[in-house]
Amino acid sequence: MSPPPPPTMQSGSPPPTQLSPPASNGQQTVVAANEHMIMPVTKRSPTDYIFGKVIGEGSYSTVYLAKDIHTNREHAIKVCEKHQIIREKKREQVRREKDALNILSNSGSSFFVKLYCTFQDAERLYFVMSYAKNGDMLPYINKVGSFDAACTRFYSGEILRALEHLHDLNIMHRDLKPENILLDHNMHIKVADFGCSKIVEQPDTADSDITSTESSVISDDEPRPRSNSFVGTAQYVSPELLTEKSISCSSDLWALGCIIYQMIAGLPPFRSSDLVAFRSEYMLFKKILSLDYEFPDGFNADAKDLVQKLLVLDPNERLGAKDDKRYTSIRSHHFYQDLDFDKLHEMNPPPIYPYLPGNSESQELRSQYRVPDHLEPGLDYRQLTRLLGLDGQSSSTTPAPAPRPRKRAGVLQMSEEEKQHQLQQQKCNNKWHNLVEGNLIVKQGLVDKRKGLFARRRMLCLTMGPHLYYADPTTMSLKGEIPWSPQLRVEPKNFRIFFVHTPNRTYYLEDPEGFALEWCKAIEEMRVLTYGVSTTTCA
Ligand code: ATP
Repeated sequence: MSPPPPPTMQSGSPPPTQLSPPASNGQQTVVAANEHMIMPVTKRSPTDYIFGKVIGEGSYSTVYLAKDIHTNREHAIKVCEKHQIIREKKREQVRREKDALNILSNSGSSFFVKLYCTFQDAERLYFVMSYAKNGDMLPYINKVGSFDAACTRFYSGEILRALEHLHDLNIMHRDLKPENILLDHNMHIKVADFGCSKIVEQPDTADSDITSTESSVISDDEPRPRSNSFVGTAQYVSPELLTEKSISCSSDLWALGCIIYQMIAGLPPFRSSDLVAFRSEYMLFKKILSLDYEFPDGFNADAKDLVQKLLVLDPNERLGAKDDKRYTSIRSHHFYQDLDFDKLHEMNPPPIYPYLPGNSESQELRSQYRVPDHLEPGLDYRQLTRLLGLDGQSSSTTPAPAPRPRKRAGVLQMSEEEKQHQLQQQKCNNKWHNLVEGNLIVKQGLVDKRKGLFARRRMLCLTMGPHLYYADPTTMSLKGEIPWSPQLRVEPKNFRIFFVHTPNRTYYLEDPEGFALEWCKAIEEMRVLTYGVSTTTCA
């Protein structure tokens, strides 16, 4: 979607639409002068902001980074097309989002995006929110594969604090997932996207306890969803939201369990590999309703116990469901031992660094590589020497494999004529030729590609171009490509395991034959050949 065209109405003109979202205080516009002060001001319009880049796309909205021309302050402005809202019957969703954000913005918690004001023109609705500079959490999990225990503890702890606050205000989020956990400039969380939220109406709310499941179970007042529709996102939806039995704050605790699992393992607990969308969702729901999920080898034992106590089919039996006010039973779980929940917002979040969790076959491995602090480690030859055991004390318990004859340098330096000849040979003799888009393969071999605690066997092909293709060796189908750029770096961890760092993701690869260092050298040589500079630390 392109940035909104110049506004068609002047500030203050009454909008000719039924979609006007009145603020809870009856004024159309509420602007916070600073994070803690909300006050009514003159009505805003799109001309009060300079719209910059698109920072997110939702199902019915586009989110822009924008600057307030009066305060110079950056905001995220969610722009919803009215015709799309009407066509897709999202009015209720927009109203919910606004109501929940209004309540939260006045409640003084730092764990939510703040709604500064709303306004509209003839075609669009605008939500002016605080800007969460570091985007959402999912790319972080995907980039590093999984979080270590300290990160998981911290971030799930902040999410728990947010849920305590939310549920205390009688609001259920109902679409909690890593994409809706935003990160501000200090890497603290800001929960966003309240389009599926529900403000619980309680009878005799005077002394009721909204975190108690019994008192907050309500029957939804909206039309019942069709049997194949639900509120929220398939992978994180709780069983009771699927069976339409009841809704309660406990559904958010289920989602918390799914998120903790994903932070540790790298993937959410309930997944389906079926490529056909409706079949995939059906499989997923069957798994959720029968609690069909597994813990991969190496899953942190305390976190496992916590997840098992949150992923409970009966919403009343989930850990925390019977707590008063705060989720004390979750706070006191041994996974959170020594975590001071009340100080989380003042703490420096633990850094999210590339990290390969250990399993029964290999120990956990941390990356020494930092982007952009140390952009130029390349291959550290001292480390290579150590790993090869040439310094007399190999750090790896894996015995060093016998060196293979080196043909690669020749391939990289051959003439165009020779390359064409090799390509002809490859076409006739190499069964992977069809998958590499006509590029000359420099090195190929089976590797285990890990994401968090899950591994998949892949055929990895380094080709001229350069490219790093990976394919499923069973189906002989191309699965993807590690994107090349001058920033691509390899990091050998031992004879079997090496990391390939790219700006958006670290790939964890394991050569079962133990030739990780050969892979690193080949990739590094290709980088130097392609981008022309050697940035290795070897003298
Ligand atoms: P969905 O389809 O999930 O319901 P939506 O239409 O409600 O989405 P949001 O989830 O609110 O839209 O926003 C879409 C994306 O925009 C988010 O995933 C996030 O990346 C980005 N985004 C939203 N709000 C902010 C913000 N305040 N600061 C930074 N980025 C934001």
